[in-house]
Amino acid sequence: MASACSSSSSNRSTLERLPNSQIRILRTVESVRRWRRPHTLDQRMVALVPTMGALHEGHLSLIRAAARENHHVVVSLYVNPAQFGVREDLSSYPVTWDADAEALVKLDRELADDGNNLGRISAVFAPTTPEMYPGGFPGQEVDSKGSFVTITPVGEVLEGKSRPTFFRGVATVCMKLFNIVQPDRVYFGQKDVQQTVVIKRLVRDFMIPAEVVVCPTARAEDGLALSSRNVYLGERRRPVSTVLYRALRAAEDAYNAGARDRETILAAATKVTDDVLAEQMALAPEKRVRFEVDYISLADPDNMEELSTVDPVKGAILSGAIRMLPVEDPQPGEDLGHSGGPLVRLIDNIIIPPSA
Ligand code: AMP
Repeated sequence: MASACSSSSSNRSTLERLPNSQIRILRTVESVRRWRRPHTLDQRMVALVPTMGALHEGHLSLIRAAARENHHVVVSLYVNPAQFGVREDLSSYPVTWDADAEALVKLDRELADDGNNLGRISAVFAPTTPEMYPGGFPGQEVDSKGSFVTITPVGEVLEGKSRPTFFRGVATVCMKLFNIVQPDRVYFGQKDVQQTVVIKRLVRDFMIPAEVVVCPTARAEDGLALSSRNVYLGERRRPVSTVLYRALRAAEDAYNAGARDRETILAAATKVTDDVLAEQMALAPEKRVRFEVDYISLADPDNMEELSTVDPVKGAILSGAIRMLPVEDPQPGEDLGHSGGPLVRLIDNIIIPPSA
């Protein structure tokens, strides 16, 4: 007897895939659920690597780690408006679908050729905003009304202080992604260390049955942490932008030399930022680069609260954020960076590991 209930079904011969690959392109929640179901029954391990696209080697390192340990890797590509503040760079955030597709297909071939992997990239989840926010996008204002996940107080300090809607947006979209993909493991980069603390809280407090895996920060040769936002820097600001990493390394050196108190450790970082800024300000306006330090922090690795002294048994997180200001006096033909070289906020961190 025919069922009175209706359901939509897909034509399996028209499954969308990335060019020259087996990687499925999934655009709807329903298509992910349909893809996921047999892997639950077969007890295959599914990993999720959430990204906002504009893929670089940092993202690819997470996918490599996921493929080593899981049968299937799902990469989400979604620029989540909820984690951008009203005055932030949502409209100019680099969207590079073709290059991302190419990078994923190339990486998937590399994974196939390397015998050490359990899995490959099985699918890309690239939803639209109406798909992710079925009740309508609630807006980017601090007091926007809607269904949000907030993780406090850890989401309110440091990055959360400078960007008050950021972790609410991240936690909300990750909760959605985790519910859609139902991954066994989720992969995040240490580059966004406070985000990893927020996500671990989310998983713990909402009993999400996934393991959170944190992978090391991928860096350029000069130490700059890879970031999708580095394309905004342009040729003048790019070399100076290593100042944050150099400052954090100096603070780490002070710790390794025996300092345990906040003043001594952070003074080493501040000396680097002060010296570099002084060097730059001695140059002519058409040559120099200006930046502002947003914060440099020495925090508890469990909750990101500021420490006055480091307990070596627990370790600590050294982190910071700087604002690279737009260049003065742009010169004819100067490469100013993506979108004309706007203000770029860069973050980085170094973990002081707990002693054995
Ligand atoms: P995003 O696309 O910026 O939201 O980043 C997606 C994921 O990639 C997050 O888990 C980031 O922490 C991670 N990620 C970004 N940059 C790096 C990097 N340089 N090294 C390692 N992971 C990174």
